[in-house]
Amino acid sequence: MERGDLDAFVDERIHYTVTYANEHSPFYRKWFREHNINVADIRAHEDLRELPIISGQTIRAHQPPETAEFEFKSVAWNEVFTLHETSGTSGTPKAFFLTWEDWQRYAEKYARIFTSQGLGSGDRVVVCASYGMNVGANTMTLAAQKMGMTIIPEGKCTFPIRIVKSYKPTGLVGSVFKLLHLAHRMTAENLPPPESSVERLVVGGESFADESRTYLAELWGCDVYNMYGSTEGTMCGECTDQTGLHVPEDLVHLDVYDPMLANFVSDGECGRIVLTTLLPVDGKCGTLLLNYDTEDTTVVITRDKCPCGRTHMKIMNPQREAETFWVAETPFNRVDVERGVFQRDNMEYLTGEYEAFLYGGDDEGETTMRVSVECRDPSECGQNVVKENFLKAFFQYKPRLAEAYVENTFKIIFNFVGSGDLELYRVKGRPKRIADRR
Ligand SMILES: [Zn+2]
Repeated sequence: MERGDLDAFVDERIHYTVTYANEHSPFYRKWFREHNINVADIRAHEDLRELPIISGQTIRAHQPPETAEFEFKSVAWNEVFTLHETSGTSGTPKAFFLTWEDWQRYAEKYARIFTSQGLGSGDRVVVCASYGMNVGANTMTLAAQKMGMTIIPEGKCTFPIRIVKSYKPTGLVGSVFKLLHLAHRMTAENLPPPESSVERLVVGGESFADESRTYLAELWGCDVYNMYGSTEGTMCGECTDQTGLHVPEDLVHLDVYDPMLANFVSDGECGRIVLTTLLPVDGKCGTLLLNYDTEDTTVVITRDKCPCGRTHMKIMNPQREAETFWVAETPFNRVDVERGVFQRDNMEYLTGEYEAFLYGGDDEGETTMRVSVECRDPSECGQNVVKENFLKAFFQYKPRLAEAYVENTFKIIFNFVGSGDLELYRVKGRPKRIADRR
């Protein structure tokens, strides 16, 4: 669809979705009434700025035990097909309800992403993302049905190498670190990844540095495509052009706001991702969200037609705001630390596994960052090479931080450890790569 038609199509869906919210969502019905919002006036995406921006906190405050009902649930129970919990970093998990229609739309988004990455009929894909409460793995599996693709639903990346030898999968879906581990296991079992049947990798789950993707691609000898998905239904994916992630604009509305969440930022500027469910006219959904603050940041790269032929806008790999840290009045993200670790020459010595801790100093305004990296061989870690490469990459776009480092108000200490000796291995759940202990 051309840009003008697409924008008009999106506005029509926004209008319908807001009308649906007024009729079916207890939270929005009440909010519209209390704030004298006439839903008939919300006709275009700019009008969404009249509506509140909500967050995970808002959802938690409007579900049991805080309220009697799940106030974001917008269908009757007999239409809820599955319910999911998304664990936040704190408090009660958020409840998220999906109808069968929602499943179909989520699957449609994944089917488009996989297709845009060159996957299709006859491909066999191992899904290493976990099933269960994670809606991604399940709906990816449903996407395969639409494409004539075979899914091997392992759920983890710790499956026996026999799976690769016997079923000859052509693709793998997993996180950067899971796929790095798998590559090392395959090499140890005399099946170097480039000699395997695998033709492409699809990575998602968390943001990563370009350097770690490049290294993964080298290790596997194939293309690595990026994907961003969330329970709320974002699902953006890189196409074969690899110049950003396409947003399925007809199925989810994505705005980028300034840090105060007051207004949209211009394309090309970094801001917060704020999502709005988009329903097709006459559609229904289990959980309806208008202006949902994902607490992730991105940049809209372009709304022009992509060389792949698609007209959907493209965004940069989103980063988590919760993984952004401030030192010397300068922000840096976990991804910046990861970039320092994954410098190509470092990878002769390192496994890629890392963790960092931030500590306050004796004097006010002093910060120390301790970076621990796992070495392939603790007796030969290339300490000087690794340090030098790390610092050069880490400070490249952060002159104020570099200045603080020279002035010694920001210290970086390196810690080279052997296999399995990082602290994160002793903590259950998603590894925390940077801990702020100031
Ligand atoms: Zn494209």
